[in-house]
Amino acid sequence: LNRLLLFCRPGFEAEAGRELTDAAAALGAWGYFEPAEGTGWLPFTLAGGMDAPTLLGELPLDSMVFVRDWLIVVAEVTLPASDRVGAVIDALRDGSSGALSGCDRVEVRVPENNSDADLSRFARKWVAPLSRALRGAGLIGDGNRGNNADRLELLLVDFARVVAGVSPVSNRARWAMGIPRLRLPASAPSRSALKLEEAWRVLLPEGRALDYLGGGKTAVDLGAAPGGWTSQLVHQGMTVTAVDNGPMDEQLMASGMVTHVQADGYQWRPRRAVDWMVCDIVDKPRRTAAMVADWFNAQLCRYSVFNLKLPMKQRYEEWQICRELLADRLADAPFAVELRARQLYHDREEITCFLERTD
Ligand code: SAM
Repeated sequence: LNRLLLFCRPGFEAEAGRELTDAAAALGAWGYFEPAEGTGWLPFTLAGGMDAPTLLGELPLDSMVFVRDWLIVVAEVTLPASDRVGAVIDALRDGSSGALSGCDRVEVRVPENNSDADLSRFARKWVAPLSRALRGAGLIGDGNRGNNADRLELLLVDFARVVAGVSPVSNRARWAMGIPRLRLPASAPSRSALKLEEAWRVLLPEGRALDYLGGGKTAVDLGAAPGGWTSQLVHQGMTVTAVDNGPMDEQLMASGMVTHVQADGYQWRPRRAVDWMVCDIVDKPRRTAAMVADWFNAQLCRYSVFNLKLPMKQRYEEWQICRELLADRLADAPFAVELRARQLYHDREEITCFLERTD
């Protein structure tokens, strides 16, 4: 078992591959990747140092930014025109070498940017006959453990090709392929609202959202207009200062929870410290990272979610530069910080970071 299947935003395959190459190397494993531009998935082969289950035992998915989810590949199957189930069973019997023993369920996925409705329909209908056959062959368990077990996942690339892998229960995305299905509240002034909701769900410690968001906290939203992020903060019961020269949503302002300040978000500072500072300004990522570091050094906030809009070229390098910039500028602070980042499903050419003062 020396291959992984990585999922990422379509177009960011090289970034995901480079990220895992570096992370594996830091743990003493080496490997290479084969990016297929624009697919949203890529195979990664470990060539030495560790096999795939060992690597995933040591490398938490939470530490990845561009890799949204991963599978330990157990078989790559060329599907015949008939008896596709039989072909999968045969391949798994031959190749999975016990890796399926922890699996209780099978799911069939299609690539994120699949536009073939027939393939999606086939994937949905394929799950039931596959499950029956896999259980009949004793390859997966009886389903009693539900989500508390490993899962067999089949990526149906097209009607002729499947990559089968194990999604390990202890180290996988909260949503398959890292794609959460969130509903935009009817009152949200912009779709960006989903980005902040996903950031909280992915980047805050699991099960502790109330500690971070509840209790009538205070917040500043830089680059707030028209107010998608502000509406999420208000929804948590926070009073918000929204900084933007653009107009804010009128209904949101009528809540009485928001003060609109027309100013440059990079220069403006609050008179008193707040709990949260969030920033969704489209500007140079290093400028945003430096501004966030200033806020923390001045102890103006305890938590921050901010976006880094990555340039088309050198996206991976730019993220590393920003991460180092934050670490350097906060190195002498009399408190500890923790930084997590992820390219969210609702992000575009950007990543979303969460910085927290931890003591
Ligand atoms: N988060 C917002 C939402 O959910 O509705 C969307 C923010 S939009 C992507 C970026 C905003 O940043 C724009 O409204 C723009 O006016 C604002 N902006 C750009 N440069 C700014 C600056 N220097 N200071 C404050 N706001 C700025």
